[in-house]
Amino acid sequence: MLTRVVIIGAGFGGLHAARELVDRNVDVLLIDRNNYHTFTPLLYQVATCGLEASEIAHPVRPVFHGAGNIAFLLGEVTEINTAEQVIIVKSEDSERHERYDYLIVAAGSVTNYFGSTTIPQSSFKLKTLEDSLTLRNHILRLFERAVWVDDAAARKALTTIVVVGGGATGLEMAGALYELYAKVFKREFAGLTPRIVLVEATDKVLAPYPKELQTAAREQLESLGVEVKLGSPVMETASDHITLKDGQVIPTHTLIWAAGVKASPLAQMLGVPLERGGRIRIQPTTEVVGLEHVYVVGDMAYLEDAHGQPYPMLIPVAKQQGMLAANNILRRIKGWKQHEFRYIDRGIMATIGRSRAVAYIFNRIKLRGFLAWVAWLGLHLITLLGFQNQLQVFLHWVWNYFTYDRSVRVIIGDPAARTPANSEHAPV
Ligand SMILES: Cc1cc2nc3c(=O)[nH]c(=O)nc-3n(C[C@H](O)[C@H](O)[C@H](O)COP(=O)(O)OP(=O)(O)OC[C@H]3O[C@@H](n4cnc5c(N)ncnc54)[C@H](O)[C@@H]3O)c2cc1C
Repeated sequence: MLTRVVIIGAGFGGLHAARELVDRNVDVLLIDRNNYHTFTPLLYQVATCGLEASEIAHPVRPVFHGAGNIAFLLGEVTEINTAEQVIIVKSEDSERHERYDYLIVAAGSVTNYFGSTTIPQSSFKLKTLEDSLTLRNHILRLFERAVWVDDAAARKALTTIVVVGGGATGLEMAGALYELYAKVFKREFAGLTPRIVLVEATDKVLAPYPKELQTAAREQLESLGVEVKLGSPVMETASDHITLKDGQVIPTHTLIWAAGVKASPLAQMLGVPLERGGRIRIQPTTEVVGLEHVYVVGDMAYLEDAHGQPYPMLIPVAKQQGMLAANNILRRIKGWKQHEFRYIDRGIMATIGRSRAVAYIFNRIKLRGFLAWVAWLGLHLITLLGFQNQLQVFLHWVWNYFTYDRSVRVIIGDPAARTPANSEHAPV
């Protein structure tokens, strides 16, 4: 009987692990709760009407067309039993027990609210395609709603958005929102004045970047029109305002929480001690410390680099760890020595709206402004899965660039389902 490898998660780590195992002498089961792979770096463009959801999602099954040894199962993994080497997967009405010889856990991360129980109730997150569509609908609805409101202060609150988190996601979201407002909505909603505020608890944005790029990013954001508030953590949130630590109250119905992530709750099922952010300590081979036959990769994995710093929760780390885990399983089956993780770090970049960005390439080259933005566009286009998606996204970007249009502005779904009383997310 062939060795059975089960992979949990068809995100960046899991998908790349499975690709390494195509046509190899193993029987692979890839499981995900969605039937598609999400290209997370462009979620904010779906939320801000720049791209269609289908342009940044790619169905999993076609990726493995013709690969006889890879099976895909749509379902939610609810239990991992490492003693019996079995996992439990649930679909809407049934449950399956799947046995494994080797398990690769690549279930990613979830939004971190740092223990707050009120923030999840009164904020939007941006982790999944559904999140970005919920947010898009909400923003579009708020503007339509503001047209009905006569009171100036109430109208202003409806068109004020607070983004919390000075990382790349927060900056990209704030920049894109301002452009949506300033370049598109302004033409269509006469008399409505939007306000975008970026709130960051520490005294800087883009913490992993060199200081001059942090400053450049902040200046580019402010030059767009975004208000940047540093060193002011959010103290209290409600459906119609937020309060900062310095006492400032910002009337708003839209709080976007981009302040951090933590490992998927599946980490708790492995029965090993957890590291910071709920991550699982792995060996350099990506095997879990203290567990046989289980590999963890990507956002869930905790591994320190040569400087004692954990590898960041980024796509290249997840991809490279996923590929290594798959190859190490093959090596182990053959009785060969496993390889250790060597991160190939090509750099980091963040875009701050049209023609604005910062990039730190190969930890040496610092780019800002238009050049960094072009680098960002090129890289994201190349890494987007599937030729059709690349072409669609490219055409959309070119169209948006020259026309300032945001064509994806259809409010989808039943408005009644999003009223304040019964909406999980939309507090308006
Ligand atoms: C808005 C946003 C923007 C980002 N931008 C960038 C960027 O520009 N550059 C960059 O390098 N990184 C970026 N990241 C981070 C990047 O997305 C992650 O580091 C990367 O996706 C981690 O890969 P992963 O395989 O660990 O998890 P993921 O890619 O998140 O995949 C996890 C998969 O597991 C599935 N899953 C989870 N739980 C279960 C379960 N119980 N049962 C079944 N399936 C399950 C999920 O559906 C998902 O498909 C961004 C993240 C976000 C949220």
